Amino acid sequence: MKITRTCGECGVPLGIARNLNWNANGTITQHNDPRHRLIFFESDNLDRLWKRLSEILGVTQEHIWEVVIESKSRATRAFLHRTLPWGVNLLARFIGYRSMISSIESQGLVMGYGKITVGGQYPRRGRPERITVYIEDPYSLPFFCGDFKGAAEVLERRWAAIDWQALDSRRHQIDVTMSERRLGDESFVLKEEIADKPGDMSFKSCSTCGTPLEMKEFVWDLEEGIIRDTRSGRRLAFFGTSGMIAVFDELAHELGERVSDAIIEVERENGLAALSIEEARSGYEGLRYLAAIRGLGLVTSLELAEDRMLLRMSNPSIPEYIVGLALAVFELATGRRGRHAWSMEADGDLMVDISS
Ligand SMILES: [Zn+2]
Repeated sequence: MKITRTCGECGVPLGIARNLNWNANGTITQHNDPRHRLIFFESDNLDRLWKRLSEILGVTQEHIWEVVIESKSRATRAFLHRTLPWGVNLLARFIGYRSMISSIESQGLVMGYGKITVGGQYPRRGRPERITVYIEDPYSLPFFCGDFKGAAEVLERRWAAIDWQALDSRRHQIDVTMSERRLGDESFVLKEEIADKPGDMSFKSCSTCGTPLEMKEFVWDLEEGIIRDTRSGRRLAFFGTSGMIAVFDELAHELGERVSDAIIEVERENGLAALSIEEARSGYEGLRYLAAIRGLGLVTSLELAEDRMLLRMSNPSIPEYIVGLALAVFELATGRRGRHAWSMEADGDLMVDISS
């Protein structure tokens, strides 16, 4: 299957239609690996998130990037280790890095990661010491660096170091250098929970490829690896939630609980910029749909009045994201700045309480 071929009816690439499931419980998961959960989300928010977190938390942007790359590579290792066929290491040597990377290239194009091209490897044959790729318009440069580092580490079962440099305003060169140090089995494990609370969300599906028809509103530029919302013009990408959660956990481990409030604040700002007043006022059905099509989770109740909003969500993808978005919804719908409280229930549901 050529994953960049598109569905004749709705225009969604087959790499998306055949590999991802939109589930009734508000999640998007990988077809052959239900533990790999993804969200479909505005990607310009990502690099803005790292920048704002460094400002709010008072740490350098370089440091935030280091944490992002490390955590993301750990999530990528765990995911690839689970899904790549046994003996992938031998396979990589047999078919060569070029073919491996060309499949990463087309994957990048359908997921909205930007345009990836192979630079080269040194030495040219056999076990590589250094591999170079170029990326144009990355969805998030540190996320991409983490993905690439993690992929190289899984293939070689050795630790890798990564360097990057801007070639111009759109293009970056990324070099991965393999170290001698081998990765232990524990390096491929990441605690991931399956969001398995059932739900009753239903989508009208494309009769040809089966993806939700709503996806017609998004256009893929498969030359550049860019997905856009035709209504807002904003760029989106599919990205794994375990990578995000690994980053946030690491930051919280290092800098304490204030990280949580910082993420909520940045997502509130992002939500205010991204959502329209009509969307914010679209009520239970509207917001439930908006959240589920993006894989954020399933809204199971919503009460919105002038001075208060109560929201309950099953299978929340990233709780801080949802709380930040809920604050933005409240602010847009009522014209008032809200104060938030949130908790996780025993059954894994997220409760958000916003008052003015
Ligand atoms: Zn279709």
